[in-house]
Amino acid sequence: MSTSASSAPATSTFAVTRRVDAVSDADREAILADPGFGLSFTDHMVAIDWTSGEGWHDARVQPYGPLLLDPAASVLHYGQEIFEGVKAYRHADGSIWTFRPERNGARLQRSAHRLALPELPIELFVDSLREIVAIDGAWVPSAPETSLYLRPFMIANESFLGVRPSQRVAYYVIASPAGAYFQGGVTAVSIWLSTEYARAGRGGTGAAKCGGNYAASLLPQSEAYEHGCAQVLFLDSENGNRIEELGGMNLFLVKADGTLVTPEINGSILEGVTRDSLITLAKARGLKVEERPVTVDEWREGVADGSIVEAFACGTAAVITPIAELKSAEFTLTMPDVEDRLAMSLRQELTDIQYGRIPDVHGWLVRLDAAASAEAPAGA
Ligand SMILES: *Cc1c(COP(=O)(O)O)cnc(C)c1O
Repeated sequence: MSTSASSAPATSTFAVTRRVDAVSDADREAILADPGFGLSFTDHMVAIDWTSGEGWHDARVQPYGPLLLDPAASVLHYGQEIFEGVKAYRHADGSIWTFRPERNGARLQRSAHRLALPELPIELFVDSLREIVAIDGAWVPSAPETSLYLRPFMIANESFLGVRPSQRVAYYVIASPAGAYFQGGVTAVSIWLSTEYARAGRGGTGAAKCGGNYAASLLPQSEAYEHGCAQVLFLDSENGNRIEELGGMNLFLVKADGTLVTPEINGSILEGVTRDSLITLAKARGLKVEERPVTVDEWREGVADGSIVEAFACGTAAVITPIAELKSAEFTLTMPDVEDRLAMSLRQELTDIQYGRIPDVHGWLVRLDAAASAEAPAGA
């Protein structure tokens, strides 16, 4: 059933148990007409178990439903958990594709390493995405800018209160149809500069995609809401003046000559797939990209003297969100109201690739639906 993009035989077979009370076609279509984000889930999920003795085993597709966890399961006490976020896109011919999944697979391995969890082989990760789409492909919406959001995650589930890496772990993939992130057009947002709280520190888990980082960002996030801002921007915890990233998105500044400036990957920033892809697209246009430390002062002075003209955040969920305003307890920095934002043209190019509207010259797309197994390997 499953196939990998290389000529190697599939590494895994998944036992499939179909849900008997699957959502009706009519009910599913009603959900797909206005899915929102993260609200509804498909009929099935993927599960793979791991123990220190047996390694990864018992890969399966099963009906979507609650997990049975022992109250002593280590994830509930010490937060040993990591996740990924990947989208499946429906192209105009009905086929279903995803974007650079091997990058997410590699990142899940790095997150696993940092959280003392076992590394899932990248092929098995990509196969797990194929499996969920093979069975729940009808849940991939087709309206513009919609997708099926795939959420792979891994939890420690040994029943043991001692503090050490869990010897039992489970990996799952759940899937949720996602509407267009910006209903009625992309709008620029205000963001809040958190000067009191940090999301990551030197030697911490900032570079891992783990639930704990998100838990730490929720209080500053509510502070952002109270100030009328959509997201929080965190600074480095050492000097408190370098820009790091938002709670779940990377950040770019755009100079008047089109140069992109973004904080370098320094061990406390999450290495976004969108970030990396935008750097590649910008360089292919002949633009300069500077990955280096960026301070709030540089941003403020650059806007004041006209050398910095745009700021935007990026990530899989929203792709690119232009930033209209940076607010803090001490100041409000208003970005100029430029026409023809570079952010918007990069956003257009990236989504055109993802939705198959322009050629995928970088070889970023991987076909996920079952028809792909009959095709010659595409090569990831
Ligand atoms: C997931 C995430 C991003 C964006 O990564 P993408 O691969 O582009 O989706 C950025 N920052 C943080 C903290 C994240 O968790």
